[in-house]
Amino acid sequence: MNTITAPDVGTSGNKPRKTGMARLWELALRKKLLVITSCTLSVFSVAISFSPFIAIYSLIRELVTHSADLSGLDPVFMTKLGWLACGGAATAILLNFVALMCSHIAAFTTIYQLKLDFTRHVAALPLGFHSENSTGKLRKIVDDNIEKLEGFIAHQLPDLVGSIAMPVCTLAVLFLFDWRLGLASFIPIILSYLLQMTAFGAKNAQTFLNKYQDSLEEMNNAAVEYVRGIPVIKAFNQTIYSFRRFHQTIKTYGTFCLNYTMEFETYMEVFLLIINHVYLFLIPVIIVLSGGVSDYGTFALASCFYLVFSLSLATPFIKLLYVAQNGRMILNGIERMDTVLNTPPLLETAAPQTVSEYSVCFDRVSFTYHDQKEIAAVQDVSFSARQGAITALVGPSGSGKSTLAHLIPRFYEVSAGAVRIGGVDIRDMSSEYLLSIVSFVFQDVFLFKQTVADNILIGDRHAGRAAAVEAAQAAQCHEFIMRLPDGYDTVIGTKNVHLSGGERQRLVIARAILKNAPIIVLDEATAFADPENERNIQKAFETLMKNKTVLIIAHRLSTVRGADKIVVLDKGRLVEEGTHNALVKAGGRYSRMWDHYSAGQNWSISRKEAPDSPVKPA
Ligand code: ADP
Repeated sequence: MNTITAPDVGTSGNKPRKTGMARLWELALRKKLLVITSCTLSVFSVAISFSPFIAIYSLIRELVTHSADLSGLDPVFMTKLGWLACGGAATAILLNFVALMCSHIAAFTTIYQLKLDFTRHVAALPLGFHSENSTGKLRKIVDDNIEKLEGFIAHQLPDLVGSIAMPVCTLAVLFLFDWRLGLASFIPIILSYLLQMTAFGAKNAQTFLNKYQDSLEEMNNAAVEYVRGIPVIKAFNQTIYSFRRFHQTIKTYGTFCLNYTMEFETYMEVFLLIINHVYLFLIPVIIVLSGGVSDYGTFALASCFYLVFSLSLATPFIKLLYVAQNGRMILNGIERMDTVLNTPPLLETAAPQTVSEYSVCFDRVSFTYHDQKEIAAVQDVSFSARQGAITALVGPSGSGKSTLAHLIPRFYEVSAGAVRIGGVDIRDMSSEYLLSIVSFVFQDVFLFKQTVADNILIGDRHAGRAAAVEAAQAAQCHEFIMRLPDGYDTVIGTKNVHLSGGERQRLVIARAILKNAPIIVLDEATAFADPENERNIQKAFETLMKNKTVLIIAHRLSTVRGADKIVVLDKGRLVEEGTHNALVKAGGRYSRMWDHYSAGQNWSISRKEAPDSPVKPA
């Protein structure tokens, strides 16, 4: 086999990915210039926002000083102070606006790129990954975890820088007029921060956060499952209470939220109490100091300034607290995203090969699912499926038929042995090429909420409308498509557009016909599930299967009688292979299955023969 290389799975190539704060900064600084500009402007905005306070204070001081004789006021200086107050406020607002604009552009371009990288990576992962990781979990990563980064870059990062600049400027301003009152205002701030550090620095804060995220993820999964299961509930007339898991996950989530809140409630209340009421610390200091002052007017003015200014202290410090709390949540979300990004996609060969002959050969293939280590789903299976022939896989439920079929397009990687197409190991082909030569007609018919034509063109993006119509005609869908409100331009899933099960199946077959891959793997349930459309579907399949290597996962023996080869599986092992007649003659496993099947058929025929005589229970 050729050298295998792993494609780059993220931003850091083959180097180990950064973790924690380093990773957060790496992601936040993807648009470095914009982010740095935003942070710098934010700092300037904060610094300038103090100028109105200082200007107004100076204005009042001038007025108080010259209160006895107002003619002593310097009008030019007073006007300058007025302009400083207005101009300072306007500049601070403008700078903040530009800072937020830069941070928003940086945030949206970063998360757009990140979402693209993530979805591309998820799409490149083998199907096995998807069966082990729920849609709910992946949806939460894309919608919530990555989205949170937008808030961090757009708002919290400038807030963080601003909130760090704010205390520094506050400190400078507070100590500018009277250091004793400045100190009295600053002590409560230090106190409240020590309190927060004690609460959130505690070990159990991280444990809480992990459990909180887990329960949120669980609830998401259960919600997706619940919505998907609604048809089943209706079909079986079950009440909503049958969805115990969903109910349970909501309860667990509720309990965690409550515990989380209770755990930090006291800390938070004391923090808010202190930070919102700094004046309570100031007043006693003012009273004590007022006894020994000589210039009572100036001291009263300074005291008023500190009391008013202390009221505005809370906002930046509360912001800083939320940045710290959210930072933890974001870090946890990024960690979960990175777990997915660290999952290696399918290994790609360095020297991909192509083939001109398309027989499929299983050579001593074994496969074990990730979560079923003790039992192999497929064990030491060898057989070949000839080009231009139909090979049917039969066996009891759970015997490994679907697993074997999934190994052909490398939805899973074999644990031992090899799958070969035209003599070439499928691992020596590029996955893109492999997928282009195999058509998989799944049991679950999935149609996108796009036009009928687009749904067919998924088979071959480059084929034109004419080719799509031709494929639809071959798949016996043209007539019903033309009856739809907008023909081929009808969007599936919109109001008044209802397709029957058989019609949906034929659309999927049209897709496969358009793809025209030389190897077809199909589930018999897809082919014969709808008796009303059976003749049409049969016709569609005849077109699809012409001169191809066809593997059918068979559930009903009647449909495989005409197969060129029947492969009989049991408990993951190949027990017999041959044509129907040869296998019946051999009197082995297949022959017994056929006897059972025929007996079942005869029983149903005898019931049909006597429709008026209901079978009474014995
Ligand atoms: P069949 O198609 O013959 O019904 P399958 O190939 O679906 O059988 O299953 C073979 C065995 O592998 C069974 O024991 C089944 O429980 C197990 N299996 C199938 N799919 C998965 C999966 N995604 N994860 C773990 N085990 C699986």
